Amino acid sequence: MHRLQSSLATYLGLGGLLCVLLLASAWLGGELASSERQRVQERLTYQGRSLAHQLEANLHEQVQGLDLLAQLWTHHGRMPRAEWELDARFYVRSFPGYQSIQWSGPDLRIRWLEPLQGNEAALNFQLSAQHPNYATAMSARDSGKPRLSDSVELVQGGRGFVLYTPVYIRDADNQLRFDGFMQGVFRVGPLMDNLLKQADNHLFSVRLLEHGRPIYVREQPAGDAEQTLRVPLRLLNNRSFELELSPTSALVQSLSTPLPMVVLGSGVAISLLLVAALFLARENARRATALSASNELLSQEAEQRQSVEAHLRDSRERLQLALDLTDSSRDALFIFDLQQRELLHMNRATYNGLGYSAEEFRHLLRDDPERLIPGFHAWIQLVQQAHRLNLSMIFQREMQRRDGSLQPAEINTQLIHQGDREYLIAVARDNSERLQLEAQLHKLSQQDGLTGLFNRRYFDRQLQSEWRRLRRADAPLAVLMLDVDHFKRFNDCLGHLAGDDALRRLASCLQECLQREGDVACRYGGEEFVIILTDTGLEGASHVAARVHQRVAEMGITHPAAELGRLTVSIGLAIATPGQDAEPDQLIAQADQALYAAKHKGRNQTCVWPVE
Ligand code: GH3
Ligand code: MG
Ligand code: MG
Repeated sequence: MHRLQSSLATYLGLGGLLCVLLLASAWLGGELASSERQRVQERLTYQGRSLAHQLEANLHEQVQGLDLLAQLWTHHGRMPRAEWELDARFYVRSFPGYQSIQWSGPDLRIRWLEPLQGNEAALNFQLSAQHPNYATAMSARDSGKPRLSDSVELVQGGRGFVLYTPVYIRDADNQLRFDGFMQGVFRVGPLMDNLLKQADNHLFSVRLLEHGRPIYVREQPAGDAEQTLRVPLRLLNNRSFELELSPTSALVQSLSTPLPMVVLGSGVAISLLLVAALFLARENARRATALSASNELLSQEAEQRQSVEAHLRDSRERLQLALDLTDSSRDALFIFDLQQRELLHMNRATYNGLGYSAEEFRHLLRDDPERLIPGFHAWIQLVQQAHRLNLSMIFQREMQRRDGSLQPAEINTQLIHQGDREYLIAVARDNSERLQLEAQLHKLSQQDGLTGLFNRRYFDRQLQSEWRRLRRADAPLAVLMLDVDHFKRFNDCLGHLAGDDALRRLASCLQECLQREGDVACRYGGEEFVIILTDTGLEGASHVAARVHQRVAEMGITHPAAELGRLTVSIGLAIATPGQDAEPDQLIAQADQALYAAKHKGRNQTCVWPVE
C-alpha cells in the first residue's frame, strides 16, 4: 500500500514536472515566435512609413508646383492661357499621378484644363455647393492654403481626389481678389501604382483606406492577414487616409527562422528526456532498493541454509556416531521391514555375535527366520499384540548361532508404522550370563547356607507342588521329620563350630540316603531336617528312615554327652495320600507328632504316625 502511494506520488511529481517543462518550452517558443512577428511588424512599419512618407512627399511636391503656379498667377495677374498650359503640361508630365491640372474660375467652373484629352467631360464643370468637394474648396478659398479633398468619382471617370490651391488677382484697388482654384486632380490608381513601383511591392499587399474603406487595393498572393498594419497619412489637411499593409508569407518566411520550432521541439524533447531520465533514475533507485532487499533476503536464506547444512552435518555426524556406537555396541540392533522381509539396518553385533556374516544373517532373516529365531512368526504376532495392548515389548527369545547352538536373547522391540509399512526395531542382548545368575540366585534363595540342602521355603513350596501332582496321580507322599538327639549338649560339649560341622555331615549323609529322583532333603530349621519322599508308601519310607539311622551310625560322629557316645537322630514318619481330603500342613503336624513320640520313646528311632 505504502509502495503504491509512493509510486503514485512519484508519477504525479514527474507528470507535474513534465507539464511545467512543456509549458516553459511552449512559452519560450511562443516568445521567440512573437519576437519574429515583431520583426515582421517592424518591417511592415518601416515599409508603411516609408510609403506614407513618399506619398506625402510626392503630394507635397505637387502642392509646391501648383503653389508656384498660384503665386505667379497672383503676382502677374491672370497669366496667358498658352503659358499656363505650358507650365501645367510640364507638371502633368513630370508626375504620373496627375489626371489633370485645371483652373476653375471664381465661379468655380473649370475653364482651363491640361491635358484636355481624356478630360473633356470636366471642362466647364462647375462645383456646386452639393458636391462633396465643395467644403474643401471653400476651406482652401477661405484659408488661402491648399486643401486636398476626399476621393470622389471624377466627372471624367475613375476615382480621384482634388488638390485645391486658391489663386488671387489684384483688382483696380490693388486688393487681392479670389480668382478661383489651381486644381490638381489625382487618380488614385496611377498615383498608388507609381508610388508602389519604388517599393518592394511583391512583399506586401497594400491597400489605401479612406475612412477605413479601401479605395485602392494591390493584393499579393499568399498574404498573412493576421499581421496587417495601418499607417495613417497626413495629406495636407486631410486625415481621412490610411495605408494598410499585409506581409506576404514569403516575407514572413524570409524574416522567420526555425528557431521557435527548434526551441519548442527541442524543449519538448528535452523535457520528455529529462522526465524519462528522472523516471528511469527513480526506477533504477527503486530496483536497486528492491535488489538490495532481495540480496539481503538471499543472504539471510544463505545463512539459514548454512545453518541448516551445519545442522544436517551435525545430524549426519551424530547419526554416524550413533551408527558407530551401535556398531561398537555389544547389543544387536536391527530394523526389519515386516512386509518386505528386508533388513533396513543392522549393527555388527547383530551378526557377529552369532557367528554369521552380514549377508548370511540378512538372507537367513529374509528366507528362513524360523531357523534364526525359533518361533519367529508366533513371536511377531506376540509383538504386534503387545504393541496393540500397550504391553511390555521386551521378550525372551533364543537365536540360533551359526554353529547350530542356541543363544538366549532378551529382545527389546518397537513397532513403527510408516504409511502401510510396518517396521520392527529390535535390540537383542545375549543375556545367558544373567539368566545363569538368576538361576543361581534362585537356587540360592531356596538353599540352606550352612548345609547346602534346600531350605524351609523350598520345602514348603515343594510339598505344595508335590501334593498337587500326587493328588492327580492318587499316589502316597511320605514326610520324614528328623531332629538331632541332645544336640544342645553336643554344642555345649564340643562347641558351635563342631555343631555346625556335624550338621553339614549329617546333611550330606541325608542326601546320600535319597536315591530316587523327586526325593528331597531340606533343613527345616536349627538341627531339624525334613525329607519328602514322593509316591512312597510306609514300607519305602520306613526303609529310608532305617537307612538314615544306619548311615548316621556309620558316620560315627562322637557325641560325648550321648548314651551311645555318638550322634543319633530321631525320626517322625507320616504318610498321606493327597487325594484323600488331607492337607500338607496336617501331614507335617503328624510327622512332628511322630517325631515327638520317637523322642519320648528314647530317641535314635523312628516313630510312624499314628503313634500308638
Ligand atoms: P532333644 O534330644 O530333646 O532334641 O534334645 P536337644 O538338645 O537336641 O534339644 P533341642 O532340640 O531343643 O535343642 C536344639 C539345640 O540345637 C539348640 C541349639 O544349641 C542347637 N542348634 C540348633 N541349631 C544349631 C546350629 O545351626 N548349629 C549348632 N551348632 N547348634 C544348633
Ligand atoms: Mg530340636
Ligand atoms: Mg534335638
